[in-house]
Amino acid sequence: MKYVGAHISASGGVENAPVNAHAIGAKAFAFFTKNQRQWFAAAYSEQNIELFRSRCKEYGYSPDQILPHSSYLINLGNPGEEEVQKSRAAFNDEMKRCEQLGINRLNFHPGSHLNQISVDACLDRIAESINIALEKTNGVTAVIENTAGQGTNLGHTFEQIAHIIDKVEDKSRVGVCLDTAHTLAAGYEIRTREGFDETFLKFEEIVGFRYLRGMHINDSKKELATRVDRHDSLGKGVMHMDLFSFIMNDPRFDHMPLILETPDETLWAEEIQQLYSLQQ
Ligand SMILES: [Zn+2]
Ligand SMILES: [Zn+2]
Repeated sequence: MKYVGAHISASGGVENAPVNAHAIGAKAFAFFTKNQRQWFAAAYSEQNIELFRSRCKEYGYSPDQILPHSSYLINLGNPGEEEVQKSRAAFNDEMKRCEQLGINRLNFHPGSHLNQISVDACLDRIAESINIALEKTNGVTAVIENTAGQGTNLGHTFEQIAHIIDKVEDKSRVGVCLDTAHTLAAGYEIRTREGFDETFLKFEEIVGFRYLRGMHINDSKKELATRVDRHDSLGKGVMHMDLFSFIMNDPRFDHMPLILETPDETLWAEEIQQLYSLQQ
C-alpha cells in the first residue's frame, strides 16, 4: 500500500491540514507544525488538537500517513552554544506539538557546521540534540532528512546519516526521510534502474531500510552532484519519470508517507494521480 500526498498548507489552524490534504486526493500529508519562518508560535488550543484528531479519523489518515516538517530556522548542529540551545528548544517544542496531535514522526534537516567546527563534531552535536529531544518527548520519532549538501548543510551522504544514528541512544525513535531531489543533487544517480538499485543497496548497507520513515518525491531543477537544492514539478526537471515508477513499484516504500514538495501546488492532485498510475 502506497501513501502518496503532498506538503500542504496548515494556515488558519493545524486542523485545516487534513482537510486540505483530503481536497487534493492525498493519502498522506506533510505540513509545518507552526510558521516555519518564526521562532515562536502560540501553543495549540484544545480545539486545534481535537479538530485535528477527529478530522484525521474522518478522512482516514493514520499516524503512518503523516510526516510534519520542522522549521527551517532550526540548526541542531549549530556550533554556537546559545544558538544551539535556541534550536533545541524550538525542536523540542515541535516534537511536543506532534505528540499532542497524536503524530508519531517529525522530519527535520540535520544541521550545518557553518565552517566553525568539523563535520564529525557537528554530526555529534546533532545526535546530542536528538537525544535531548527524545528524552523530553514520548512516541515521536525524529526523522532525519537527507540534504543536497548545499553550503555547510550536513546529511548529504548516507555515511553522515549513519554517523548521527549511531550516536542516538534510543534507536527505536530515530528515522530517515530521503528526498529524491536532494539525493540526486548530493551525487547519487537514482534515475536509471542500475543506479537506483546501487544507491538503495548502499542505503541498506550503510543506514538500513528499517530506519526509513518517509520519502519526499520531487523532480529536480539541478543536475547530479550539483549540491544545489531546487525542486521541480514531476516530469519538468532533470529527473525521469522512471525513478518515480521504480519507487511506486518497490515494496520497500510501502506504508510510509510519500510526500510531494513540488513547486506548483495547483498540480498536486494531478501529480498524486500520476504517481498512482505508475503502479503496475
Ligand atoms: Zn525538507
Ligand atoms: Zn524534502
